[in-house]
Amino acid sequence: MSDVEATVARRAIVIDDDDVILLSCRRILEKAGYEVETCSSGLTGLERLAACHPQIAFIDLKMPELDGIEVMKRVRAIDQHVVIAVITGYATISTAVDAMKAGAYDFLPKPFTPDELRVIANRCHEHWRLAERSRRLQREKEAFARRCVTIVSHQLKSPVAAVKQYIDVLLHTSRAQLPDTVVPWLERSQQRLNEMMALVEDWLTLAKIEGGALCQRDQCSDLAAIITAHIKGATATAAAAGVELRSELVANLPLVRGDAVAIGAIVANLIDNAIKYNRRGGRVDVSVALDGARVRLEVSDTGIGIPPEKQAQLFEDFYRAQQVEARDVPGTGLGLTICKKILDELGGAIEVDSQPGNGTRFSVQLPCAVAPPTANAGG
Ligand code: ADP
Repeated sequence: MSDVEATVARRAIVIDDDDVILLSCRRILEKAGYEVETCSSGLTGLERLAACHPQIAFIDLKMPELDGIEVMKRVRAIDQHVVIAVITGYATISTAVDAMKAGAYDFLPKPFTPDELRVIANRCHEHWRLAERSRRLQREKEAFARRCVTIVSHQLKSPVAAVKQYIDVLLHTSRAQLPDTVVPWLERSQQRLNEMMALVEDWLTLAKIEGGALCQRDQCSDLAAIITAHIKGATATAAAAGVELRSELVANLPLVRGDAVAIGAIVANLIDNAIKYNRRGGRVDVSVALDGARVRLEVSDTGIGIPPEKQAQLFEDFYRAQQVEARDVPGTGLGLTICKKILDELGGAIEVDSQPGNGTRFSVQLPCAVAPPTANAGG
């Protein structure tokens, strides 16, 4: 893997009211390969730092105009990533702790030897390099996720949808004219294309979550309304599967954190699974209630259940319990991954409780958009 950060010129700034310190720091650091700015006051130091963007700032804690802690605070407002080392003649544990609390990474007690300064400068630079590298990888990951979304939606989803539509039309309008041997092949193709569309949709949802385009934490949703709408849409599927779908929604629940698309994906995945992995004559119960500063959603079913040894893997990408594959239940193995990732983004949680042969209950905790008054009173 390329290490772009290692090739960037090393830049340091030294802010200290002692001219002798400034001069010796400049000599030592320049000899060690750094471009060095020196400033004898906090205010000029801040100006130069904003102009030359060093990776390291050495800041004296005791200066007449602005003290070092105040300079550090202002440095952070200008550049979040610069690595700060404090220089001080009062090398006590408590000054070191105060400096670290204010955001310093390292600590250089006066008087110091050239070697001590070089070691600290190199340690700070290494810290900056690793942090910068992880920021770059994160940016690349987000850009890749965004590119995937574009590629999948334009290059894959559209042609698959078009082929599926041709087959739908063919079967709908010309079934009687088609040879008997052809119809089952077309129906099988239709089913496989449906599976592929579901996979593309789920993958797209995951890429959107990872690219930060789904899960708007600053938005809020009416969970009960989302459940009611989904249940309405799922009633026919449940009836066809011989499953009774019931809900118990407490009135006037507070809004939950997260946009309707993200919350809708959780609700849809859990309710659809509870129907899919059920049996004829079975039941699905959906309930929501306030639980402290969170809203609890429970989806219980009387279906096939999940063996205890499989439960830990349920939230992994593409995981499907074997007995499901054997029953030929369609699915991508991404639904619960999507639920978990959305909940992680929103600060929620999900738990499963299941007994093979008896049924499964998924419990979801969703943070309220605004903490309900009783939540504060009750702790
Ligand atoms: P999919 O349903 O598309 O296979 P999910 O990620 O939604 O993928 O679920 C992963 C696996 O967890 C399923 O394949 C199934 O084995 C199991 N599972 C999920 N929900 C239930 C449930 N309500 N009852 C039994 N098994 C379930």
